[in-house]
Order: sequence, then structure tokens, then C-alpha cells
Amino acid sequence: MHPGRPSQHRPLTSSALGQWLWARLGPVLAKLCLLGLALWATVGLAQAHAPSSGLASRPHPRAESLTQALMTLGMRHQLADTATKSRLLSQLLTAATERQALLAAIIQDDPGEVLRLTLPADLRASLPPAVRALVEEEMEVEGELEVLHEDRDVGSRFVYFLKTARRRFALHFAAHPPTHLETATRVRVTGVQVGQALALGSSSTSVQTLATALPNTFGAQPTLVILVNFQDKATQPYTVATAQNVVFGQTSNFDLENSYGQTWLTGTVVGWYTIPLSSTVCDYATLASQAQAAAQAAGVNLSTYRRYVYAFPQNACTWWGLGSVGGQPSQAWINGSLALKVVSHEMGHNFGLYHAHSLDCGTTVLGTNCTTSDYGDTIDTMGNSAAGHFNAFHKDRLGWLDYGTSPMITIVQADGLYTIEPLETASPGPKALAILKATDATTGKQTWYYVEYRQATGVDSFLSSNSNVPNGVVLHTGSPSDGNSSYLLDMTPVTASWSDPALVVGQSFTDPNAGVTITPVSVSSTGATVSVSLGPLVCVRANPTIALAPSQSQWVQPGSTVTFTVSVTNNDNAGCTASTFALQAAAPSGWTVNLTAPTLTLSPGASATTTLQVTSPAAATTGLYTSNVTATNSANPTSTASTSATVALVSGLSVTLTTDKASYTRGQRVTITTGVSANGSPVANASVTITITKANGTVLKGTATTGTSGSIVWQLQLGTLDPVGTYKVRTDASVNGITGTATKSFTVQ
Ligand SMILES: [Zn+2]
Repeated sequence: MHPGRPSQHRPLTSSALGQWLWARLGPVLAKLCLLGLALWATVGLAQAHAPSSGLASRPHPRAESLTQALMTLGMRHQLADTATKSRLLSQLLTAATERQALLAAIIQDDPGEVLRLTLPADLRASLPPAVRALVEEEMEVEGELEVLHEDRDVGSRFVYFLKTARRRFALHFAAHPPTHLETATRVRVTGVQVGQALALGSSSTSVQTLATALPNTFGAQPTLVILVNFQDKATQPYTVATAQNVVFGQTSNFDLENSYGQTWLTGTVVGWYTIPLSSTVCDYATLASQAQAAAQAAGVNLSTYRRYVYAFPQNACTWWGLGSVGGQPSQAWINGSLALKVVSHEMGHNFGLYHAHSLDCGTTVLGTNCTTSDYGDTIDTMGNSAAGHFNAFHKDRLGWLDYGTSPMITIVQADGLYTIEPLETASPGPKALAILKATDATTGKQTWYYVEYRQATGVDSFLSSNSNVPNGVVLHTGSPSDGNSSYLLDMTPVTASWSDPALVVGQSFTDPNAGVTITPVSVSSTGATVSVSLGPLVCVRANPTIALAPSQSQWVQPGSTVTFTVSVTNNDNAGCTASTFALQAAAPSGWTVNLTAPTLTLSPGASATTTLQVTSPAAATTGLYTSNVTATNSANPTSTASTSATVALVSGLSVTLTTDKASYTRGQRVTITTGVSANGSPVANASVTITITKANGTVLKGTATTGTSGSIVWQLQLGTLDPVGTYKVRTDASVNGITGTATKSFTVQ
């Protein structure tokens, strides 16, 4: 109520004789019931948008406050008179412009934060069109995936693009970028568009594969090497003959040896061409198109080649090589030095390979406190040191082992002595052992040990001075479903060196979690004999996985309850018994949280769900709030995991509801007053529905529209036969799609 302003008075009459009431208000009420339903349907403002990462994003206070400003100004704009509207519109445009620029910067490093702040579709739609154009939008886009890898000494990275008929979007994944897809795969992605970039959740939830690229890893590989230099740097650091030898001599022979005679490079070197590009910029897309144009102008038929290699004098790019992972045609950029190490590595990417990593767990082979090194594999050209053979896991991916007429990999499923031949030689015997290490309880993803035997021969001659590798077996881990999962293990962890990774004859390696012991018993120039024993599984506890659905920020009005599904997965291995997980939820002070099931009992590998309800106080101020849920294994409290949900409160109409007394007797008149305001000012022309539920469940409804005072006074005449007990009153107010609700109860004696 706002004293001093005239109030609207509307009679609302009640009687034990419902017929009489309906007769008086029937025509109006029939319409109101529908309106009431429609209002309730829109009270929850939650809308689906892009999935969030599950990874912790760093809150960006300025972007968050601009997001709130957009919502507050947007609501004031909706309610304002014409003169005020134009002033508010200019403020809205200023805020939206700054916010858009900020999100475009944030998306590069923290796409999860962009997803957290993304306005849902219905709130975006409530903004004026000029403002809406500046606000991010959820989109589903189909196109061709482009996966590139920039190779540099520090800060190497994958970059992802989506090419559509007309546009090229940079893709930024908040978690788990795709490592199972190659360039040229047709995909459909769901993400939030900010300018020319899309923020996406994890590849498993935001990328749908429509068709996979065909692997081209066998036979002659028609390759065009284009030598280009720049308008300001027309140097030729090596001759055409040198380039011919590096690519079609050394690299082709490298592939021929690695593939056991199945894959080689054919084609030609063209150039040098001087292209109209400066060496002081790093624009590899333009470099590629200008190199192609120059070759075409010189009469080269580009379409007869399946792989393009652009080689050029050192320019402003800080990487030494860049390669598409797969692709048709595949592309490789060689910056400066043209050598076997660089070309075999970039063309390894072109064949579809990722890097050969290493796993360093200090003074133990495995452990819980390990670091990985991106290029850490010292004996695989996809690592950083030598142009060595692709390891057995990589060859398995290429089909150069265990496919068609390629040599076998022996899958070990029983204790025994197994013989493997040197990985380098073209003899037809088994080249590696594969032993199951673990199966991920959640995803079913398997990780295997790959045991191989390396000799200082062919392109592995660099091992001739190595006293460790040729005298034992080398172990890698890899997951066939994840191309980016090749890890060299260090079987001599007490030495800091990575040039002695092999397990030498007489030494054993045991993985108690997998129940696996590996012991090379003899090596010779023709092969290694390895003893493998598979023991019983020891119980190994692991942190559970906890997830909330929906994962995206939920936009609701203060006082609303948001419901989430909580899912918990027991990641203990099969050697453990079932465990009980205690769930705990936390919310900001003054909020209430409720978990339907406070504990979940799960067998290893099993998942279960329960429900979390988060309710904000009706008086809470607008903003983004976080609620955390933790699952802890009661039998092993260090096995714990937590996740969080964001509830974004947006201001609605503020509705008050009062009665003139708290208690009445039958026959008395009840005076009910509703006030509707927004940002502290009364709101005119709000439609208000009142719903009264009597003590016996009978429902009465009425409606009215606010005047300039923003308030409505209702009167309810209690009949002498009306039920005694508690009566509930609820008012729902709505204007321009903005809503608010208030409830109140009184007693009749
Ligand atoms: Zn690379």
C-alpha cells in the first residue's frame, strides 16, 4: 500500500453456497482460471541453454554485474513510459556493448564463465531488439570440424574451428575438448555464440558426430609441397632439391618403415613463390590460400593431391610447425627449418595422431601425484626429442599394427611368456603386447598397457648410444577411444632422466590396481620374451563422480525453488565392495536446501540419483548464487567429490499481501490488500489474480488491474456456513511478461 494514493476497491464475495458465487462471478472467473494457469506456467524462468563445463570457472565480477545491469535495466525499460524508455535504451545499449566485448575476451580462456553468464532465451527475448542483437545466443550449428595443432616450445595448443557454408566459428570448450575426432568430420555443435566464437560445454555433451572422416593411412599419399616466401622477406633458406629430399626421401622412408611397407609419400615440390603477405604477421589461413593460389597460377593441379605442406622462411608465427589432425586434404605448415623431425611430426598429425606424452610420478612409476608432459615421449616423433618410430599405440590407431595385413598386437588375457619382435623390423610376428590396465566405471573407457621392444635400427638408429632402451621393453598406456592418450611410462623413476624409460631384463613392473606384473626375461636382436602374470584385483578406492542436472545456470525470481537431479557414481574398482556415499548440500546464508536422499549405497561402477531442491528467500537480492553438493564415501572419507549449481536471481514484480486481521469469525468481512511494485515504485496496469483456498479446499478466484497506486483492495464476505480453519490467499501479478507472487493465510473461527 502506498498511503496517499487512491486505491482500487473490488468486491469479492464468498458463501457456503458456491453456486451463488459462481453465478455472480462466473463469466469473469472462467477466463481467470486460464489466466491463472498461464501465469503459473511462466513463474519458473529456467530455460535450457548450453551445458556448462563441470569445471570450475573463475567468476568475472565485471561481466557478472553487467549481466545483472542488463536484466534490471531491461525490466525498467519494459515498465517505463515512452520518454523514459529512450533514456533507458541508451543505457542498455552501453551496458550490452561493454558486456559483449568482455565476453568475447573471456571466451578465449574461460568459456565456462561465458556459459554461466549466458542469458536464457526467454530473458534475452524480453530485451529491446537493438539490445538483443548484442547479447549472446544459444545456437545449434552444423559444419565441418577443423582440428589444428600449433607446435611450439612452450604453450603448444590445439585450436578448433567449425566451418559452415558461410562462416567459420572458433570453438572454445569448457571441458574435455574432442580428442576422438579429426579434421573434416561433419558435426553438429550446441553452444553459445559470442561474435565469431562459440562457447561449448564438454565435447561429449555439445558435439554430435554426423560422419567421421575417412582415414587415409595406407598406400601412396599424393602430397604437394609449396615453398613460399614473403613480400618483405623473399629469402629461400633451402633449395627445392633439399625440400624434395626431406619430404619425399627422408619422411616418405620414415612412413614406409613405420607402416611396414604400407604407406609412403608421392608428389612434388613447387615454388619458391613470393606471396603478397608480410612475414611480420602470423596468418596461416591466408598463407595457405595464397600459397595454393600461387601454385595454381603456375599451372599446378591442386586437386590431384591429398596432402598440402606449406614451407616458408621463419615468420612471425611463434610455432615451428602447425598441422591439421587428419583432414582431406590435410595441411601442414613448416615455419623455418624443414627437417625430418618437423615434417614427420606434422604429417603424423595429418595422419590423425596427437602427441606422445609422458607420465611422471616422481620416484614411482605410477601414483596419485603425477604430472604429464605434452611432448614427453623421448622415442616417438610425436614427442619432442627424436624422429623415432610411432609407438605401438599410435601404430594401432593408424592401422599399421593389428589391422588388415599389418603385424599383430598380442592381447594378454592369461599368465604366460610372450615374445614380441622389434617394433622397427618388417618381419610379420607380433610387435607389441596389450594388457588391460583399467576400465572407467562411468564411461566404460578402457586403458591398456602397450609393451614394445625397440632396437637401434632404421629410423630408430638414434638409440645406438642408449644403454637402456634396447636392453628391455618400453611401456606406454593408451585408450583406444581417446586419440590423445599416449603416455610413455618411466620404468627407472629414481633417475630424473627420460632417456632410460625401459624395463630391462630381470626387472619387474607391478601394477597392483590392475593385478598385472610384467617382467622381460630375455632380449636378442630378433625379439624380447616377456613374462606377464595377472593376479587378483586389490580394492582401489577412487573419488566418486557427482553431477547436477540441469548443469546450466537457472534463472528464477527470488523465493523460487529450483530442483536439480544429483547423480553419483562409485568409481572404486571391482576389487571393492559396495559403499555408502553421504551427500551434503550447502547454499548461501538464508537459503534452504533439501536432499531427498541424504545417502546413496552403490556397488563399484554403479550410479544412482536423488533430488536437490534449492530455495532462495523471497527478499533475496538479484545476482548469481552458488550451491554446492558433496558426496563422500562413508567407508573412506578421503574419497569425495563435489560440484556446484548456479541459481541466478532476476528481479520480478515485488508483491505484498496483507489482511486487516489475522483471525475472523463467520459472517465477518475480510479486507485483503495487494501492492505491486518494481524497483521500489508502484506498478500500474499489472494484472493481478487472487486465489483464496478455504479451509475445506474450495477455491475462489478473482482478478483486477492495478492503477497508479499499484495496489488493490479486495473484500471477502464470510458466510455463516463457511468452514472454520485456515484460509490461504495467493496473489499473482503480471505485466509485460514480468511476474511476482505473494501468499498469506488467515483463520476463521
Ligand atoms: Zn604437434
